[in-house]
Amino acid sequence: MPAGIIRGVRHAVVIGGSVGGLLAARALSVAFERVTVLERDDLPEGPAARRGVPQSRQAHALLARGSMVLDELFPGFTSEMLTAGVPTGDLQADCLWYLDGQPMRRARSSMPVYGVTRPLLEHLVRQRVRALPSVTVTDAAEVTGLLHEDPARGGRARDGRVCGVRTVGGTIEADLVVDAGGRASRLPVWLRDLGYGEVPVSTVRTDVVYSTRHYRYDPERIGFAVINAPYPGMPRTGVTVRQENDRVVLFLGGILGEEPPDDDAGVRAFAESLPGPEISDFLRTAEPLGDPVRMRFPASVRRHYERMPRLPRGLVAVGDAVCSFNPIYGQGITVAALQALALARTAGAGRWFTGAARLVDSPWSMATATDLRFPEVEGRRRAVDRPLDAYLRRYRAAAVHDTDLGAAFLRVSNMLAGPGHLLAPGRVLRVLLSPARAGRGPARRRPPVAGRRA
Ligand SMILES: Cc1cc2nc3c(=O)[nH]c(=O)nc-3n(C[C@H](O)[C@H](O)[C@H](O)COP(=O)(O)OP(=O)(O)OC[C@H]3O[C@@H](n4cnc5c(N)ncnc54)[C@H](O)[C@@H]3O)c2cc1C
Repeated sequence: MPAGIIRGVRHAVVIGGSVGGLLAARALSVAFERVTVLERDDLPEGPAARRGVPQSRQAHALLARGSMVLDELFPGFTSEMLTAGVPTGDLQADCLWYLDGQPMRRARSSMPVYGVTRPLLEHLVRQRVRALPSVTVTDAAEVTGLLHEDPARGGRARDGRVCGVRTVGGTIEADLVVDAGGRASRLPVWLRDLGYGEVPVSTVRTDVVYSTRHYRYDPERIGFAVINAPYPGMPRTGVTVRQENDRVVLFLGGILGEEPPDDDAGVRAFAESLPGPEISDFLRTAEPLGDPVRMRFPASVRRHYERMPRLPRGLVAVGDAVCSFNPIYGQGITVAALQALALARTAGAGRWFTGAARLVDSPWSMATATDLRFPEVEGRRRAVDRPLDAYLRRYRAAAVHDTDLGAAFLRVSNMLAGPGHLLAPGRVLRVLLSPARAGRGPARRRPPVAGRRA
């Protein structure tokens, strides 16, 4: 893995020991003699959900690009997942995708999919990071602030420098501090208190409500994965994915006021209302392995550190601390992994936040453009969005029949290609020549169920 060595740099401190922080520690372990990860929670020995990562009880998808980057950062990582019992399949052949309510034709592709739970993924990453000789992962260690050196009087440096962190137990000096404190990161407050001003924020409110429950896997009753994506007029989603330990995770979600119910009858009725019949058929005989767990995700939040007129040197932020995406698109871990690759190349030197913003631009615009298809979602719609949206609706209608268009759609949503891939001249032609028309609606219509908030 490439890494820039910076003269004099020896110790990096990472705030937060979840996936983003662990990947950052891996990235810095080559250029820094010591890397210390400070995690507020008590970390479990095995794969287990924990308080500081409430979403770890919810269904997580690992995008194909994410699994590839994990293999780059930790050679053999995906084989290790398989050894740990994670089922794998082909993203297009083994998963049934409903696009705008229509089932997509299946075909073999070169894109892998892994049915891994969030706690097992974090556990495997943590084991790899703990095995690195230069990295120490310390739990029950809460960071409460930054150590900051003011610019030397008359010196050339215009801004100060972060030179460590304050913890509940004392102070730790560092040449580089990485904030991987997640969505609830305190970095904006710390920077404001140090006189750097407010961090500009973009917010797109979708009011996602998640409900996740596990069932026993039975190949006679359900395939590898079924994905009913929401679309205007259908603010509900329902997904099943086969996971390790012979389980199937069911995730029901609602946006913009829709709430998946938790009681059995309500869950079945919600599943009945989805475009595809597979999940409601599965639920007729499925054996639950626990209770449903609910979580709210009010808004996607992007912190624009790159727009700050001043920032201290020696500071980097990664993962959800920079951008917390609508979880329905499953982008968070993959973006954190791509940031880790960039961190390995630069060791946090130079204009980190400018480069990090470029990495976030494409997934952020893909996710928010999809959210902005819903007229109820507030946000800036550019003049180009209307024709683009009309094209993409036609694209999806064509892609459910045309497996090449379907594969390109999955490549983009799995971050293996940029959104421009869907606008390549050959694809535009196929879309325009396709007899499929957008706006046919779902494969079947069911009456709405109770569960909508007033
Ligand atoms: C409901 C939901 C579903 C999601 N589904 C997906 C999905 O399908 N696919 C996907 O890729 N992503 C998904 N995500 C996003 C994904 O969970 C995150 O991107 C991923 O966990 C990486 O985040 P992170 O490490 O930056 O932050 P987090 O996972 O939030 O971790 C932050 C860590 O920092 C610690 N911490 C915070 N403050 C301090 C402090 N002051 N001192 C010490 N420690 C501190 C916390 O205890 C925690 O361990 C989902 C998110 C949600 C909310």
